[in-house]
Amino acid sequence: MSTGLFLFTSDLRVQDNLALFEAARHHRHLVLAYVDDDADRIAGSLQAKPLGQHRNEFIQQGLVNLAVELEEMGQYLVVTHGKLGTQVRNLVSQYQVDTIYYSRASDFRGQQRLSLLAQQIPEVVFKGIWQHTLYAAHQLPFDISDIPTSFSKFRRKLEQALPSVLTPQQLMSLPPPPNELVKAGITLTDNTSISESFEGGAGAGIRHLAGYFDSDCPKTYKETRNALDEWQSSTKFSPWLAAGCLSPRQVYHALKSFEQARGENDSTYWIFFELLWREYFHWYALDIGEKLFEFTGVSGRKPLTTFHAERLIKWQQGITPYPLVNAIMHQLNATGYISNRARQIAASALVNELSIDWRYGAAYFQQELIDYDTAINWGNWQYVAGVGADPRGGRHFNLDKQQQMFDADGEYVSRWFGEHEVGVLDSTDMVDWPSVN
Ligand SMILES: Cc1cc2nc3c(=O)[nH]c(=O)nc-3n(C[C@H](O)[C@H](O)[C@H](O)COP(=O)(O)OP(=O)(O)OC[C@H]3O[C@@H](n4cnc5c(N)ncnc54)[C@H](O)[C@@H]3O)c2cc1C
Repeated sequence: MSTGLFLFTSDLRVQDNLALFEAARHHRHLVLAYVDDDADRIAGSLQAKPLGQHRNEFIQQGLVNLAVELEEMGQYLVVTHGKLGTQVRNLVSQYQVDTIYYSRASDFRGQQRLSLLAQQIPEVVFKGIWQHTLYAAHQLPFDISDIPTSFSKFRRKLEQALPSVLTPQQLMSLPPPPNELVKAGITLTDNTSISESFEGGAGAGIRHLAGYFDSDCPKTYKETRNALDEWQSSTKFSPWLAAGCLSPRQVYHALKSFEQARGENDSTYWIFFELLWREYFHWYALDIGEKLFEFTGVSGRKPLTTFHAERLIKWQQGITPYPLVNAIMHQLNATGYISNRARQIAASALVNELSIDWRYGAAYFQQELIDYDTAINWGNWQYVAGVGADPRGGRHFNLDKQQQMFDADGEYVSRWFGEHEVGVLDSTDMVDWPSVN
């Protein structure tokens, strides 16, 4: 029987990994690999790298955890560094692989990455399996080509005919690696210190999930979720969900078990409601393809912007005239995590106060966020910029009002040094221009 290759991407787990199960079912031997892609470290035209330090560390920890778990099952994880095409081609020829399995991305760029790879290795069959959402395509109460574009319509339709979420699947055994595959050591980057509160890996993800639902936090989630910066105010599931250390089905079932044991209320429903936002952005990304990354989004409307390089840098570094925005950007740069409230404020300031093309902000969040998820990040940025499928248009958050509502005593701004370097927005003005006589 033949040899398959499973390519780990944003699915760094063994349990409830439907794509891995598919690979395990069909081959006598299986190669399990992760490619640390050079392309992730090259800044693109939007002045940011696809992968920054925080998420990189989280992923490295996830890989160590995965390798240990696989070893216990008699398997090895091969981690290679370099160009994706070259690395996968080497594995294919080294182990006579005939089929490659992977989790299908919901966004256009993620899909394009894999289809380019398939073009480079035409002799191999590529099988992409959809698994990043709660529901499978066949469970949705609408046709995949007819996904409602607004969240309200999407949610209402889904709630009218709520399909049951598949039970998370347990994998008991894996086919062994090919005989020639010697144990491949995992090469970790030198800097393995972790962000303050997030530890990568499925083990840490499951522990965090269990800890959250062992606490009383789910009972008050709806009242606390909007806070600017409290560890217990929201679930903090996002980094594990984004790296695939946790599946959305595992989260959903833990939530249902909590409701059965301790009762349901508005807050427990609201956790599900937020998972539906996640669900929505993934299906939305699939639906709109390249438009997820376009300046005009799905609206076709061009926001009024100019490219101010200086403003962008000041926003990134947190030295704008707005202490609240500065504090948020300092927290993001230092930890890789900011709350949903903080993300909305920072995004709105970039778009509205600084008049910068929203895509530069989305790309910077991509680089810095520990929980970066392409569909969710770019979808939310479109919303704030008013180019998404939002009937209300863009969102402009009044900074003074936000400060009053969420940090009235200035504690957050002072903790993150928001007042430290409050600069003017532009260091050149009219009088600096050469005179035109
Ligand atoms: C400009 C902007 C960019 C964002 N980029 C990302 C990103 O790259 N990755 C990411 O996971 N989230 C992103 N979000 C959504 C949201 O801010 C985070 O999911 C949330 O803050 C993560 O913390 P939590 O897990 O404690 O969330 P909770 O409030 O506990 O929510 C539970 C889960 O629901 C989902 N969820 C919550 N809010 C949203 C939302 N607005 N849209 C979609 N799903 C949501 C997440 O999976 C989250 O883990 C972004 C929001 C904005 C405004």
